Amino acid sequence: MDTVSDYVVEVEGLGRRFKRTVALEGFSLKIPRGGVFGLVGENGAGKTTLIKHLLGLYKAEQGTVRVFGLDPVQEPEKVLGGIGYLSEDRDLPGWMKVKELMRYTAAFYPKWDPEYAEKLRQVFELDPKAKLRTLSRGQLAKAGLLAALAHRPDLLLLDEPSSGLDPVVRREILSAIIRTVADEGRTVLFSSHLLDEVERVADRVAMIHQGKLVLDAPMEEIKDTHHRMTIRYTNGQTAKPDFPGMLSCQGRGNEWTIVFQGNVNAAKEHLGNGIEILQVESPSLEEIFVARVGRSISIEED
Ligand code: ATP
Repeated sequence: MDTVSDYVVEVEGLGRRFKRTVALEGFSLKIPRGGVFGLVGENGAGKTTLIKHLLGLYKAEQGTVRVFGLDPVQEPEKVLGGIGYLSEDRDLPGWMKVKELMRYTAAFYPKWDPEYAEKLRQVFELDPKAKLRTLSRGQLAKAGLLAALAHRPDLLLLDEPSSGLDPVVRREILSAIIRTVADEGRTVLFSSHLLDEVERVADRVAMIHQGKLVLDAPMEEIKDTHHRMTIRYTNGQTAKPDFPGMLSCQGRGNEWTIVFQGNVNAAKEHLGNGIEILQVESPSLEEIFVARVGRSISIEED
């Protein structure tokens, strides 16, 4: 008998170009079954391109893509039947009413749960008679979420789910839904520019920069292994410090603030005598991202 993979997603050496633009290059990622996986990267990093490969909308030009152990291009029905997808541009048919969207989507999924769908509609305060084209951006995101969630997919793919939602809905509804899906042993993959939100919700994080994976680790491990340390040279030295694991360094003269990955004691040893440690703190995910890719994520907000 085939063994079911522990990974819902297995991407190996994925490469994709759009004419001269390299969207993904040598990209490998495994997403374990169960839990919340955050995909972070600036505009154009390659997040949506990756998600479209998982949906079988793009065929791998290089490398392989497996979802539930299957090739999404070869076996679209089996793969798509287990996925709930909220697209970045919320491309829902504008002429449909909310209740029609619910009926229409239900027809595609044998596991559609009408009671859950109705509960979500009420929580999202969506008028069943409203035409989708008349909905606000936030309401459209909620309608898209409802359609993605109500068949209780094994893999929920959310491309920028927070975009257009106000902070209360993000914190109290979206985060709660994402956690519930994960607590039921299912998997959520969501892309986001909002690193504080990813930090709050995700169990595991992958950072993409210019089509390449720069970091993939459990959130706890990322938090435990990254440090922000402020030092002062007491020996008259003023050169910018440098040691293995250092990701960024800011300051001048005898005082520097360093973000690094590794062990604090090992870092102190590398820096040698003649320094005073002023502060060691845990950096935010945003600071870690900036330290790794050299710039801040552009926040696309209303
Ligand atoms: P964003 O956060 O802005 O949505 P992203 O990380 O999802 O960005 P992608 O949409 O995957 O990034 O785009 C990766 C790169 O590929 C970008 O440079 C983008 O311009 C390019 N690209 C994506 N889709 C196409 C396409 N259909 N035709 C041409 N170029 C494309």
